[in-house]
Amino acid sequence: MCSDDHAVFLSSGSRSRRAIGQTGFHRFQLGGTTITALCDGHFALSVQEVLRDGEMPMQPLLERACVGAVVSSHVNAFLIELGAHRMLIDAGAGDLQDATLGDMSAQLVAAGLRPEQVDTVLVTHLHPDHIGGLTRNGVAVFPHAVIHVPREEDAFWLGAGNPETVDASVRATFEHARQILAPYRAEGRYRLFDSGAVWNGCVTAESLSGHTRGHTGYRLHTKEGDVVFCGDLFHVASVQLADPDVTVCYDSEPAKARTTRAAFLADACRRSDIVAAAHAPFPGLGRIVAADNGYAWHPVA
Ligand SMILES: [Zn+2]
Repeated sequence: MCSDDHAVFLSSGSRSRRAIGQTGFHRFQLGGTTITALCDGHFALSVQEVLRDGEMPMQPLLERACVGAVVSSHVNAFLIELGAHRMLIDAGAGDLQDATLGDMSAQLVAAGLRPEQVDTVLVTHLHPDHIGGLTRNGVAVFPHAVIHVPREEDAFWLGAGNPETVDASVRATFEHARQILAPYRAEGRYRLFDSGAVWNGCVTAESLSGHTRGHTGYRLHTKEGDVVFCGDLFHVASVQLADPDVTVCYDSEPAKARTTRAAFLADACRRSDIVAAAHAPFPGLGRIVAADNGYAWHPVA
């Protein structure tokens, strides 16, 4: 039985001035937990520049998936409401990237919530499209939230790091992470954790290392099934699920990203989890199903 047989749709809306396709917020309930997908916006992703060859030749794969030279990729963040707790997973790009991004906190307000109500932020990794929305003009956007960061992410991007080992497109992450996290670190609202950490008894951190050193997913357990927030496990679902060996230029460790993706997809397919993905078409919710020799994305609305 599919667990979204139990999912209860609550509301959706859009205040976006940048509408392309479906944007806004999307709220539903599963097993007594309310989850809201928040659209931060979208950006243009050049397939030739970003995707790296996998097992199969790239061109037939692109044609089969009807993918053109440029893909419009959404950026999604997610809010979990658990009793009195408001837990945000990732925070969008803020003003660090394209002008078509940075809508996350406005969508939060459109969904009837205020940044002051968020008590916990869990970040999948420290790339700017996942943390940029935490800070505006040097001031914390979430005045009461504690920011939880995978220990290996902190060590790599805020420690000595090694800028030469990452693609030029993500090299600014070292400086951005320092700036964005500074208010929270200064106010003592910054915590590190390891894989396996648990929040409020029902959200567990699971290492999805490869895209970045400490890239981490979060599993929300409900009595009616799990939702797995997988961050940047894939960027172009139609290509990277069909051939999980296809990597992206942003990957810190492409070989590790491949094996992590293959294991995650097999597991999510077997368990029929709802998967919440940062770069799947908004609201970024779907299931992984077997297709041909790989997998396909089945949206769950
Ligand atoms: Zn991303």
